[in-house]
Amino acid sequence: MTKQIYAFSEGNMNMRGLLGGKGANLAEMTNLGLPVPHGFTLTTEACHDYQEHQKLSDALLTELDTALDQLRQVTGKTFNSQTEPLLISVRSGAAISMPWMMDTILNIGLNDETVVALADLTHNERFAYDSYRRLLAMFGNVVYGLSEDGFDQILTTIKQQHGYASDLELTAEDLKQIVQQFKALYGTDNVPEFPQAPKDQLLAAINAVFESWNNHRAQVYRKQNHIAEDLGTAVNVQEMVFGNAGEDSGTGVAFTRNPATGEKQLFAEYLLNAQGEDVVAGIRTPQSIDVLKKEMPEMYAQFATIATKLETHYRDMQDLEFTIEHGKLYLLQARNGKRTPYAAVKIAVDLVHEGLISEAEALLRINPESVSAMLHPEFDPETLAKQTVLTTGLPASPGAATGQVYFTAAEAKAAAETGKQVILMRQDTSPEDIEGMIASKAIVTSRGGMTSHAAVVARGMGSTGVVGAHEITVDYQAKKAVVNHQEIHEGDWVSVNGTTGDLYLGQLATSDATVKGDLSTLLDWAKDTASMGVYTNADTPQDFQKALDFDADGIGLTRTEHMFFKPERLLQMRRLILAEDAEGRKAPLVELQRMQQDDFYQLYKLAGDKSVTIRLLDPPLHEFLPHDENEIQAVSHQTGITPERLRDRTNALKELNPMLGHRGDRLAVTFPDIYQMQVRAIMTAVLRLHDEGLEVHPHIMIPLTDSKSEMGWVRQLVEDQLTAMMADQDFKLAYTVGTMMEMPRACVTADQVAEASDFFSFGTNDLTQLTFGYSRDDVGSFMPEYIKQGILPADPFQTVDVEGVGALMKIAIEKGRSTKPELPIGVCGEVGGDPASIGFFNTIGITYVSCSPYRVPVARLA
Ligand code: ADP
Ligand code: MG
Ligand code: MG
Repeated sequence: MTKQIYAFSEGNMNMRGLLGGKGANLAEMTNLGLPVPHGFTLTTEACHDYQEHQKLSDALLTELDTALDQLRQVTGKTFNSQTEPLLISVRSGAAISMPWMMDTILNIGLNDETVVALADLTHNERFAYDSYRRLLAMFGNVVYGLSEDGFDQILTTIKQQHGYASDLELTAEDLKQIVQQFKALYGTDNVPEFPQAPKDQLLAAINAVFESWNNHRAQVYRKQNHIAEDLGTAVNVQEMVFGNAGEDSGTGVAFTRNPATGEKQLFAEYLLNAQGEDVVAGIRTPQSIDVLKKEMPEMYAQFATIATKLETHYRDMQDLEFTIEHGKLYLLQARNGKRTPYAAVKIAVDLVHEGLISEAEALLRINPESVSAMLHPEFDPETLAKQTVLTTGLPASPGAATGQVYFTAAEAKAAAETGKQVILMRQDTSPEDIEGMIASKAIVTSRGGMTSHAAVVARGMGSTGVVGAHEITVDYQAKKAVVNHQEIHEGDWVSVNGTTGDLYLGQLATSDATVKGDLSTLLDWAKDTASMGVYTNADTPQDFQKALDFDADGIGLTRTEHMFFKPERLLQMRRLILAEDAEGRKAPLVELQRMQQDDFYQLYKLAGDKSVTIRLLDPPLHEFLPHDENEIQAVSHQTGITPERLRDRTNALKELNPMLGHRGDRLAVTFPDIYQMQVRAIMTAVLRLHDEGLEVHPHIMIPLTDSKSEMGWVRQLVEDQLTAMMADQDFKLAYTVGTMMEMPRACVTADQVAEASDFFSFGTNDLTQLTFGYSRDDVGSFMPEYIKQGILPADPFQTVDVEGVGALMKIAIEKGRSTKPELPIGVCGEVGGDPASIGFFNTIGITYVSCSPYRVPVARLA
């Protein structure tokens, strides 16, 4: 059997997989000579073994005895000793940090006898019973599933009886009473007595931590964060140090940089005379670290030095947990701090400037998807200036959110499922609330600090968060909150500014965010480094401008049909489709050309020397026709065509499978004048810009091609038109004509298709539809089940199906380039903006992707 327990002195930071993140870093800090309480780590392999056999193995138990014996040697303490009682914490810690999701129990080793011994030894009865009541509550909750509320209620009642405002006012006598009442929650039908033997406590705690890997909330968190189910957690067993030992003690959490904004400043919160749980669980709103700076300047200086040292050592912003016991500092945890997307970008860029990491490392540290959160709207500054602030809390996670208020996670989740924008407002949050938090636009709490887990989780999800807004009192029974005599009821609209911590009543207007500052620096680095280009799908100058603001390389796909849906154009389009013959199509074609050439002119002009790819008409014609009787009457009125004729024509164009029907280049074969009109419009726009001094090289793209002969036919149509116009204008134009790759047949004959194509662009939506045989407009009825059952790893319309569609793409690329080695090959379907898919495209020789404007920065980083 391999070794399953490592002393902190035996591990290091590279052993995350085996020791979990917490264990590996406790070991690393121990080896750096930092003041870390002694302890050891049960490995994730021990967890797997436990999961498999549902018990702690004999080998593990033997190792555990040895480890406890070694702990006795270094600390001089043992379980049950009257003179040197050993007290320990049992802490979860997976390879990928999942703050707050699994369990930790402090003060193990206390029982009815050792609590008395501890009181005598420390001459501090209050401290001993404070520690014991904490153990009873955590153990009861974690090991036996007793609700936290039961313990809270006892505590609150006693505080109320004496009129105490804070836990600090509880006396030793009060705490003894609390301990009695806490113990009475044990020993019922379902719950055994609290185990007095420390060893029994320890074993039960280890079991419970291993079990906590499978908590519902932990599962939800893993799903949300794409963490593998089979990693398992390690368990850390560590000698206790006591932040609740008196006025010269305390506990805190620090980030070496501001986790919300990324600003370089030690950012810490501190509680005097308390144990760490109070800070991270958000039970009490902590004080600023300045209190420590003022009252124990020496401690503060020591801590600040260590914080800097650790940040330099790990070369990243650190989230540190520390405790001071009678004026001595201990480090209890270090990890790379969770941060908002804003902070992530700022910190990465700053670290490059500070010489700690390279540009490439900075790029790799940013999750491309998270950047989209930075592109979400902000409150319009002018609107904000006119509003009165309802109340202000701590700006835990930036962003602008408006939504309807719900007071429980379950109600928030249910409301979000009906399509509402939801704000979750609570006194405080507990990890059980995770699903409600995921469903909400913003989280608002009246208690807790910037380092509380609620804040950490909000930042990790990129949602807006305001915590510690203490003027809010939530009345869960009445489903309302009161803020300065003002009532907020369930369903009321509020607006939350996570950047300032301000709350407003009502629905405030938002404005678009832009790429600026550090994000644009980072995107510049990405552009310099990337091998693939990033173009945009854009049909209007507005869309294109947005994409240009995001630094798109050009347009990879203009869907010309979208230009036909505006009312005045739709009318001409309908005239065209309803015409009896080519002669009747002439007049509407002239009108359409006039409008379309102006569209192209605008796009080309905006593009300047960037390239623009225009796709000719793609959808089936009946999409443009009226569908119900009201519409038929209206169109008849507009066009003077009788309703009967309209109905006949619409019926004639109806298809059983329109997506497989008369569309794309099939329209070019039957109605060549439509594509000819589009080519003329392109050419006219180009000529106009030529006169204005801008040379445009049009890229014309043919949709739905399935063979070389078809592509050749359509290409000829396009080229004849271009040649005629060039001759007419005595003008020589450089252009390309390429094809969408979206038919499996085209992919497997790509060597031939390439003979008639200057470029390929994968239309992954149609290609996926045809490869799976899924109608992409109807997958909603079964896709969720396929994903839930694990039949598909992801929706193939969102993330490319590497095995099937990807294989076809590889064939097409290989064959295409066997004909034309330099053939440019792009992707312009939905997955062109999906980071996971982009990773795959990079490995198969794709030249560029094209995606919607807002995905451009995401794709660039990916
Ligand atoms: P989480 O992963 O949820 O942050 P931890 O295992 O870090 O859980 O424990 C929570 C808090 O308990 C820590 O921040 C720390 O303040 C306190 N704690 C854990 N172990 C000890 C210890 N040995 N001595 C004192 N406090 C401890
Ligand atoms: Mg912790
Ligand atoms: Mg298509």
